[in-house]
Amino acid sequence: MERKSAWEKIDDKKTVFDFCKGYIKYLDLGKTERLCVEYSKELAEEMGFKNIDNIEKLEAGMKVYKINRAKNIVLSVIGSEDIEKGFNLVAAHIDSPRLDLKQIPLYEDSNMAMFKTHYYGGIKKYQWTAIPLSLIGVIVKENGEIVNVNIGEDDEDPVFTISDLLPHLAADQMEQKLSKAFTGEDLNVLAGSIPSDSEKDKYKENVMGLLKDKYGICEEDFISAELELVPNFKARNLGLDSSMIAAYGHDDRVCAYTALKAIFDTENPKRTSVCFLADKEEIGSMGCTGMQSRFFENFVAEMIDKLKDSYSELMLKRAISASMCLSSDVTCAMDPNFKSVSEPMNSAYLGEGVAFAKFTGARGKSSTSDANAEFVAKIRKILNDADVAWQMAELGKVDQGGGGTVAQYIANLNMDTIDCGVPLLSMHAPYEVASKVDIYMAYKAYGAFFRA
Ligand code: MN
Ligand code: MN
Repeated sequence: MERKSAWEKIDDKKTVFDFCKGYIKYLDLGKTERLCVEYSKELAEEMGFKNIDNIEKLEAGMKVYKINRAKNIVLSVIGSEDIEKGFNLVAAHIDSPRLDLKQIPLYEDSNMAMFKTHYYGGIKKYQWTAIPLSLIGVIVKENGEIVNVNIGEDDEDPVFTISDLLPHLAADQMEQKLSKAFTGEDLNVLAGSIPSDSEKDKYKENVMGLLKDKYGICEEDFISAELELVPNFKARNLGLDSSMIAAYGHDDRVCAYTALKAIFDTENPKRTSVCFLADKEEIGSMGCTGMQSRFFENFVAEMIDKLKDSYSELMLKRAISASMCLSSDVTCAMDPNFKSVSEPMNSAYLGEGVAFAKFTGARGKSSTSDANAEFVAKIRKILNDADVAWQMAELGKVDQGGGGTVAQYIANLNMDTIDCGVPLLSMHAPYEVASKVDIYMAYKAYGAFFRA
């Protein structure tokens, strides 16, 4: 197989660079799944998408969306063909690895107020110390009132950080295994250091007082809060040629944004186009807002009900079984600093276009859906006809490790599904790297797929 740079297919780099400006904004405004849903909804409404709940009858060409518990959004452009003949689905996720505050987070130690955290998703813990962090999320009071918290993203805001040991005193730490040197319970965040005049817990009470003044909350309100510590860095152009983007949260907002832009461009398709942005992928796609939730099927049922005079479960099953899906998630690019973990013939390379993975999983393809050869051939044709630069990829060498995506859960519904996304360097690190041309090719691939 001949390898080729995807840049060779680009006549004017400006097209790619301009496309990526919108993506950089999406990254900076959508650092949590809730912010991502909010901004995606705003963009969708600008593009004429309407909340499906406010529509009685659906017709071909209509553009609709539905939001699930503020953390998961699905969009659809209704096709001219009967939905029972299937729809084209692109599914990405908008949750990223991060540190969540515990439900009882605040304490004090050594003249400092601290927050305890519980990490979310697969992280290398040492990467999250000694970097600036923003605190974003919601606190829901007992009466149901939602308090939005966003501390750190405004340049005037303070930030947070987790301390690490100075090299001078790190002799013992440096002898430990990387996996043991930093434990989850060590990831405690500095939250303040001025004492209040209260009798006890002077430092803790000072921080609590500030939170009370700013948000009107009491300590018990943390119990019903979802507060996430995310890297404070802004997304930036990377390299002398600005050909790449370094940012927090490429996994998987890079596929979310490209899928969104592709469905925004889709006008009057033959087959109905669906873009699903899931939450909870990084922790196994569980829960109401994850890909394993019934929400997806419920949305399809909702569409059928609003398209037809009658509804039956058989219609839903027929529609889903006749559909096809691109499970759009990132993969690992060959890293020149860590070549030994990838198999050179079957690895994705940065800048060679959107990457397909017939299977993911680990230990002999365990826990993967492994796409059908017939379906892979069909996708190849769609991409080649649309002149998309694409590559076939495997996540690392056999038995080197592995990973999964939402693909298996969609395939389990009896839908043809294949993984397809942007190759990254430093995946799951606070600062990940993607190539602009791969991002652009993902967008082109999803557009061609929606039109197929
Ligand atoms: Mn992912
Ligand atoms: Mn991931």
